[in-house]
Amino acid sequence: MSDSADNRLSALRNVRVVLVHTSHPGNIGGAARAMKNMGLDQLVVVKPKRFPHEDALWRAAGAVDVLDKIRIVETLEEAVADCSLVVGTSARGRRIPWPLTEPRDCGERLVGEALNHQVAMVFGREDRGLTNEELQLCNLHVHIPSNPEYSSLNLAMAVQVLSYELRMAALSASGKTGTETMNDWDRPLATVDDMQRFFVHLEETLVQIGFLKPKAPKQLMTRLKRLFHRVRMDDMEMNILRGILTATQAAERAEPGTSQIEKTRSKGVDSK
Ligand code: SAH
Repeated sequence: MSDSADNRLSALRNVRVVLVHTSHPGNIGGAARAMKNMGLDQLVVVKPKRFPHEDALWRAAGAVDVLDKIRIVETLEEAVADCSLVVGTSARGRRIPWPLTEPRDCGERLVGEALNHQVAMVFGREDRGLTNEELQLCNLHVHIPSNPEYSSLNLAMAVQVLSYELRMAALSASGKTGTETMNDWDRPLATVDDMQRFFVHLEETLVQIGFLKPKAPKQLMTRLKRLFHRVRMDDMEMNILRGILTATQAAERAEPGTSQIEKTRSKGVDSK
């Protein structure tokens, strides 16, 4: 697809705003208005505390149409299952650092990828943001560089700032963002759903071969998720890895224990 200004503006329709466990219905309406002002219209809410609600309608003002087609889902996985790029928003730093971007670059990356794929921006709860598990579902995180002494914006305001950056990126006449895009890739990119199923398979295999000890998992899966989210796999690369896992499981079943790392070591693979 050519990267004309019209295409970039219509790509905003492929950008989904996901709100997780929102408490105040007014924020859902405020987010809908912020989105419509900037040309976005896909709003998904994971288990809102109170919705529908008159406060949502009131804050949405002329954006009631965005609320009318809102999608309410049970889990974040469900909200972003078909997306290839997911950005999680965060008002503060986390223990395990994740690839982090700033709002301008975030807008450019999302618009670039939305030309060909579904993408999502995920926002957290008013009181405690997104959980580590939710943040680990994302390819990268974005932080609005606010006052460190009071860094947390109102939810709908955060939606406004990031939606504005998306619009600016979509309006950029040259369409050259200077950031890496995956637009001319020869295969479709893996979706969140593919990635989640891959992680389940990977964990299962690592347990089976004794590399991951369920009683002392440490941060192995978190670190592996971060690694694989950074790579941006396509569907064929994903199938190759799944095939390797299946073959590893079959080998372990055929000769239990031979694939365990201790056995490998005892055979002298890593000894001199
Ligand atoms: N006390 C919470 C803040 C939640 S604010 C915490 O410490 O995480 C509600 C949501 O607004 C956040 O989950 C995030 O989606 C968004 N938000 C608020 N401030 C932000 C900032 N500076 N950068 C990015 N997103 C922000």
